[in-house]
Amino acid sequence: MTYSMSRLQRRLESAVSGEVDSSQAFREYYSVDASSYRIRPGIIVIPRDTDDVVAVITVAAEFGTPVTARGGGTGLVGGALNRGIILDMKRFDHVELSGYDIAAMSGTTRGKLDDKLKPSGLLFAPNPSVGPFCTVGGMLANNSAGSKSLKYGSMIDCVQSVTFIDGTGRIVSLPDDHDVGEKILDIACGIERERFPTVSKNSSGYRLDAVVDMDSTHKTLIGSEGTLGVFISAGMKAVDRPKDRILYVLEYGSVTDVASDCLDIIRTGPAAVEFVDSTILGHMEEGFDAKTDCLLFVEYDGLDSSGRHSCNTSASRILDSAGAGRCKNGAVGDSLGSEPERIISRAAHSATSLRRITGENEITRWWGHRDASLHYSLTATNEDTEERVPHIIEDASIPVIRLPALFDVLAKINYKYKTRTITYGHVGNGNIHVRLICKKDRMKDLPEIAAEYLETVIGMGGSITGEHGDGLARTKYVKNQYGARNIRQFEKIKRFFDPAGILNPGKILE
Ligand SMILES: Cc1cc2nc3c(=O)[nH]c(=O)nc-3n(C[C@H](O)[C@H](O)[C@H](O)COP(=O)(O)OP(=O)(O)OC[C@H]3O[C@@H](n4cnc5c(N)ncnc54)[C@H](O)[C@@H]3O)c2cc1C
Repeated sequence: MTYSMSRLQRRLESAVSGEVDSSQAFREYYSVDASSYRIRPGIIVIPRDTDDVVAVITVAAEFGTPVTARGGGTGLVGGALNRGIILDMKRFDHVELSGYDIAAMSGTTRGKLDDKLKPSGLLFAPNPSVGPFCTVGGMLANNSAGSKSLKYGSMIDCVQSVTFIDGTGRIVSLPDDHDVGEKILDIACGIERERFPTVSKNSSGYRLDAVVDMDSTHKTLIGSEGTLGVFISAGMKAVDRPKDRILYVLEYGSVTDVASDCLDIIRTGPAAVEFVDSTILGHMEEGFDAKTDCLLFVEYDGLDSSGRHSCNTSASRILDSAGAGRCKNGAVGDSLGSEPERIISRAAHSATSLRRITGENEITRWWGHRDASLHYSLTATNEDTEERVPHIIEDASIPVIRLPALFDVLAKINYKYKTRTITYGHVGNGNIHVRLICKKDRMKDLPEIAAEYLETVIGMGGSITGEHGDGLARTKYVKNQYGARNIRQFEKIKRFFDPAGILNPGKILE
């Protein structure tokens, strides 16, 4: 760094009304998040209002120092870690509701949003299983999703508008700002669409593929990981909170059986189809059969997916891309009264057992097992052999029809590199979280393992990340994902919003 840190601090202190802190304790605290990375920032600013954010970015541009926004710090790929200035957006935590329309400031936690929506019988569909701690800003920046994304989509499907400060200090509202929109449309026209993944969830790169007209220009910002702008607020759509949920927990003898049933189950219209493997189910004391190797959690929420919801259903995209037809009339999801057991049993022909879970408390208890999967997988390491759980291959999303092939690749990697893998996740979207467990002395193989796995994913038409983002873990693979022509368009969009390259540098583009 060529500038003096104390001069930068003095400039920031005189420019903003919020806190400016470069104490050792603050720098340590903000040097980590929920990932395994660590980068110590220089200065932390906790802005009070939009003027503060504009001032910080203006000063940062003058000094040429990085600015990285931070929400709850629950990201799994080091997205909120960087040198320079960290902007903690926690004071931007106001949320308003009008009918189904949510106007949320970016620092609003998912928990606060839930509390606001509950009395009106509503919910916001994207639900990262970290629960109440992540923020709207982090969810926008990562294009976050969760178990209900099979029915309601990811953030990109549920957000109508965004307001942000770009790298020049300009306040931009999309899709309203048509001058900016024209530029985005122009850049989006130049993409090589065939190189974008054909999956229902994609958090890699810039989502220029989702920009199809002036009304969708804001989608470029969703999943941009704080590299194009710092979110101030967003307009989002709520959906009805289901009143009569039913959860089925299905036991399977093998992953191959799960894969062969998946599309038939999706066709019955569930809100969620989630998977956990033998390691995760080993933590649940629920009396499973000894031969059970993995489980599916299939939830129906009894709401119709037309009329009453504004979010797109991604299930039809999944079925379309697999050439597997549409959701059937009379599917369980459309009408919970119509013999649900018979319909789900017929779809899940390879399951060895089916449990019906009803009642809010019992359903919540079972989802607690699924949501603890990351925790269960991290406790599965063996301290004696100094095992590590690197993040790189943890979030690929592939066409559902390719699931058997994906599990085959993992088996080959485990054999070749003497690793173990624990798998769980949003299997209905083809989004599998893989915890690769690697002995310390085999960590040198990691680049080879990552290249082998991620190349296979890309070759299947998949995305290297379905919901967690590129961050420090996967930015170097974005080029392979999209190819040279799309990278040029990504560079153009980056230069347009952040000509000095100060916003969260090193993420998405190297
Ligand atoms: C146990 C566990 C389970 C999880 N399960 C899921 C899951 O099911 N689905 C899922 O999608 N994710 C999941 N995650 C990942 C993570 O929770 C989400 O990505 C979450 O949305 C991050 O929000 P955050 O506020 O913590 O963001 P942070 O970690 O603070 O930041 C994440 C990224 O967002 C950027 N950012 C934050 N605020 C802003 C802003 N105002 N403007 C611009 N950029 C901003 C940061 O710079 C960074 O790049 C899980 C994480 C954990 C630890």
